[in-house]
Amino acid sequence: MDFRLTPAEETFREEFRKWLNQTLPGDWDPFNQPTFKEPEKIRDTYRAFQKKLSEAGYAGIHYDKAYGGQGRSLMEGVIVSQEMGRRCISVVMPGVITHGMALPLIYFCGTEDQKKKFIPKILDGSHLWCQGFSEPDAGSDVANISTMAVRDGDNYIVNGQKVWTSMAHFADYCLLVVRTDPDSRKHKGLSYLLVDMSLPGIDPRPMTQITGEAEFNEVFFDNVRVPVSSLIGEEGQGWKMAITTLMFERAMGDVVISAAYETNVEKLIRMAATTKNSGQPVIEDPVYRQQIAQSYIEIMALKYHGLRNFSSHIKTGIPGPEGSIGKLLWSEPNQRITETAMDMQGPAGQIAGGPWSVQNGSWQYAFLRSKGNTIEAGTSEIQRNIIGERVLGLPKDASRDKSAS
Ligand SMILES: Cc1cc2nc3c(=O)[nH]c(=O)nc-3n(C[C@H](O)[C@H](O)[C@H](O)COP(=O)(O)OP(=O)(O)OC[C@H]3O[C@@H](n4cnc5c(N)ncnc54)[C@H](O)[C@@H]3O)c2cc1C
Repeated sequence: MDFRLTPAEETFREEFRKWLNQTLPGDWDPFNQPTFKEPEKIRDTYRAFQKKLSEAGYAGIHYDKAYGGQGRSLMEGVIVSQEMGRRCISVVMPGVITHGMALPLIYFCGTEDQKKKFIPKILDGSHLWCQGFSEPDAGSDVANISTMAVRDGDNYIVNGQKVWTSMAHFADYCLLVVRTDPDSRKHKGLSYLLVDMSLPGIDPRPMTQITGEAEFNEVFFDNVRVPVSSLIGEEGQGWKMAITTLMFERAMGDVVISAAYETNVEKLIRMAATTKNSGQPVIEDPVYRQQIAQSYIEIMALKYHGLRNFSSHIKTGIPGPEGSIGKLLWSEPNQRITETAMDMQGPAGQIAGGPWSVQNGSWQYAFLRSKGNTIEAGTSEIQRNIIGERVLGLPKDASRDKSAS
């Protein structure tokens, strides 16, 4: 497989780079941006940037022009995602569920009305989405979902609780998986709703994480009247849709994240060159040199795995279960690279901000945030089960109810 770009694709990358340089401020520091301590600022920064992307003709690169996209190739979409991952990951990160899950799901599975209603608003930055899958008793086992949606005329009445719902406190819409058949068990009887978060009866309550910030929420649904037109796919098809959404989430993530991690390694090398630990320049320490090299190797594995997965995506239109390999390739190495960065700092590793912190305390934040990487979007154990069963064809995980797998 040849991963080199065509001359036209190289020119497109250069043009987009130039646009990014002109659009991001001259003193732009991707590691020193608004945090979830300022949720409105995070949301507004994302919206303003997405609007500029849209006005410049860079939003929804490979989506149909009829819905506000650019009608270009998936490879050009990958190029734009890589450049944004490299230069401004913190700005585009709040849109990860919006663009990695809501957009492809609505595009491939929505009705014509849903596509016209939602896609242009996603692409111009007006709408941010969150993902309501997990519940107190349904995390790895999504099929255990108990939030109920009972049909009442032209509405579903939704009651129940979601948890770990990232960005629900400032999202406009939610991809909500509910149980529409009260007599069903496991994956049967689940449905998928596109829910307006401003509807009466929806109550997101932010939860503080190890970073000290509230990025995710508990979300309570109390007799929420959701129009039946919000159903995506057929009633009872929610399980299939949920799996498809998760595959999109994993495939898109590899491309953006590997680009962002390349920037992280460059930053780590800069730190190693300027930091001393026990009087010795860190960059001369053979152990750290090995760790930096190992991190780079792991990022390259993620990058080329992501591109390989995309080449099969281009052929079939839908990403495959190989996305689970990518999930392991970004989450576990990110924990190692942030641990290396903390070790390198020696005693200064304990200082998370202020004049005595190294690189603005950004590694301390990244180290704490990385702990969630091996849990969010499916835990490492679950990814290994998926790889075993669906990629390698090994026997099914005996600990799980056969009807759920
Ligand atoms: C930062 C962050 C953001 C998140 N954002 C969202 C979001 O926006 N929307 C959303 O819906 N969810 C979100 N989640 C939730 C996430 O998807 C779940 O936490 C995850 O799927 C695990 O579910 P659980 O927490 O219920 O753990 P459990 O499923 O209870 O798992 C507990 C432990 O048991 C292991 N385990 C479970 N089943 C098996 C098995 N069959 N074989 C081997 N080991 C097993 C797991 O790997 C884990 O170590 C987020 C989580 C985090 C940390």
